[in-house]
Amino acid sequence: MNYFTFKEPYKEQDRTILEMNILPDKYCTFNCIYCPVSRTQYKHIKTDRLVHFEGLEDSLAELNRQIDTVHPDLVFINSLGEAVLNDALPQIISFIHERKLPVRLLSNGYPLALEPYKSIANTCEEVIGEIKNWQEKDFQLTQRPVSGYTLAQYRDNLLAFRHQYPGKFIFEATIVKGYNDSDEAAFWLAQLTADLQPDVLSILALTDKPFDKKLKISDERLQEINRIVRSYFTSK
Ligand code: SF4
Repeated sequence: MNYFTFKEPYKEQDRTILEMNILPDKYCTFNCIYCPVSRTQYKHIKTDRLVHFEGLEDSLAELNRQIDTVHPDLVFINSLGEAVLNDALPQIISFIHERKLPVRLLSNGYPLALEPYKSIANTCEEVIGEIKNWQEKDFQLTQRPVSGYTLAQYRDNLLAFRHQYPGKFIFEATIVKGYNDSDEAAFWLAQLTADLQPDVLSILALTDKPFDKKLKISDERLQEINRIVRSYFTSK
């Protein structure tokens, strides 16, 4: 039985993007208080272990059909949690490559420095890594990671992955009101961004409903933080 799901294809500049989810439920190393999957019917499993799912053959057949119908320029693996936890990810990426298409992979970034996740991510043409906190206590409180995970290790993992990754690295920082929207937090983010030297930097407000009511910063504040981080980043 197919367990992949697909978004409506969309354009990004002049490229057609096919965005897909490769997890039947939410499997993630974190359980964020503002996770957009948290209010859905899906089961939530917090883990950093590889997971095996039945139905890969049917799922790849559906992916094949989608590619034939959409004719995308890129396949974006953006799942209900951490796509790297699907033990079939290498086969899925190979399948897309056999169709002569590049792959973009979204990860929260924590597993990217660890094997086998690092080697798998290295086969993708584009990888997105994220950050949503700058203080340990807030990381533990709001992202509720697997036991033993720390923000310092998270930062080191992003850097370790980035410094050996040959593809296009996209760094996505989400600004959450009351947690990482201070000037101090912006300077911390600026330093991390300068160290990462991403190919693409995206600094966003948290906009997922209903969490946006309490946790979305104003457009003006988002612009200010962008200014602080980008001026530091480009001046390095
Ligand atoms: S990292 Fe993303 S998918 Fe995982 S719990 Fe947090 S918001 Fe949800």
